[in-house]
Amino acid sequence: MRIAVLRETAEAERRVAATPETVKKLIALGATVAVESGAGDGANISDSAYSDAGATVDGRDATIAGSELILGVQGPDVGELRGIKSGAMLVAILSPFARREEINIYAASGLTTMAMELMPRITRAQSMDVLSSQSNLSGYKAVIDAAESYGRAFPMMMTAAGTISAARVFVMGVGVAGLQAIATARRLGALVSATDVRAATKEQIESLGAKAIFVEAVKGIEGEGSGGYATEMSDEYKAAQAALVSSHIAKQDIVITTALIPGRPAPRLVSDAQIATMRAGSVIVDLAVESGGNVEGSVVGAAPVVHGVTIIGHRNIPSRLAADASALYSRNLYNFIAAFWDKDAATVVFPADDDIVKGVTLTRDGAVVHERLV
Ligand code: NAD
Repeated sequence: MRIAVLRETAEAERRVAATPETVKKLIALGATVAVESGAGDGANISDSAYSDAGATVDGRDATIAGSELILGVQGPDVGELRGIKSGAMLVAILSPFARREEINIYAASGLTTMAMELMPRITRAQSMDVLSSQSNLSGYKAVIDAAESYGRAFPMMMTAAGTISAARVFVMGVGVAGLQAIATARRLGALVSATDVRAATKEQIESLGAKAIFVEAVKGIEGEGSGGYATEMSDEYKAAQAALVSSHIAKQDIVITTALIPGRPAPRLVSDAQIATMRAGSVIVDLAVESGGNVEGSVVGAAPVVHGVTIIGHRNIPSRLAADASALYSRNLYNFIAAFWDKDAATVVFPADDDIVKGVTLTRDGAVVHERLV
């Protein structure tokens, strides 16, 4: 089987779908690997590092020609896949709900496409879970971005010239990104508090040494929630949450929001009126900005200052840590391929009735097949 690794074309995408490490591992399985020249530039991986690992390195057309499996970070448009073999497979983060029309075109072009972000959250698939591997880095980077923009220090410092007090950091949404944000802010010496709608996160927050701030008057989501995910909350809950946030946020220096609800716009958690109560120089990082935003006034790809508070809304945060994000993402891809590798046939075989395969497959045999798309 010939596997192609493409150079990403989306704006500000610095990640790459294979590293020399995973190229070697794919070759050890029995595949041949072709890498598009420059694919690793954004992650500081040279063409020669890929050829030393055993890949051929060439232009896009030569890389695609004859390849049966194409690996990417973001989904390329079909127009970018000139000369692709009919029946070839494309595995990447394909954003099927935002790119619905392109998914139809993948199907019409006879491509089998698999969206890695739809990987089921089951134990067997943990090592293939790209949302977790990338969100973890986003949670870390959100705190570093906040620290960089904040005109004060995070830790308490007792000096001969007097004492500097510790920064107060409030993390809203305690999934994978939120947990890493709490841990990172704690390591920097901040006083950290956090909230979520899922009761199971309370213990996780406390075990990281942070204070859990929870709505008590109205019941949230018991335990983990369905599949570990939150749902839209009742109006009564939202009102109680808004009151809780209003009383807490005025005392915070840094707020990191990470709240998402699968298949829906991100919940609004911080209002303009609440931002106005924060001290000038405070910083908010809205990690949900690309899904509609948790914070009123956040802007994708910008950092407006509102009431003296900087609201950071970077797009594609994992790409800002491209080397680590690529290393983890490409291992996720390798683990996925290796799990379905048929040694004798020296190719990957995806049984249509496997839970993982069903979870990620968008198109097959000329049709859109994913249950959430048909
Ligand atoms: P996510 O990105 O969907 O959401 C981030 C967090 O925001 C979640 O904790 C969610 O409860 C919270 N949130 C949503 N609405 C909110 C609101 N109105 N107010 C406050 N918080 C709100 O979550 P995620 O990071 O993808 O993690 C979801 C779950 O999946 C977690 O329980 C995680 O431990 C679990 N998980 C399981 C596996 C696995 O078993 N393979 C892998 C990764 C994650």
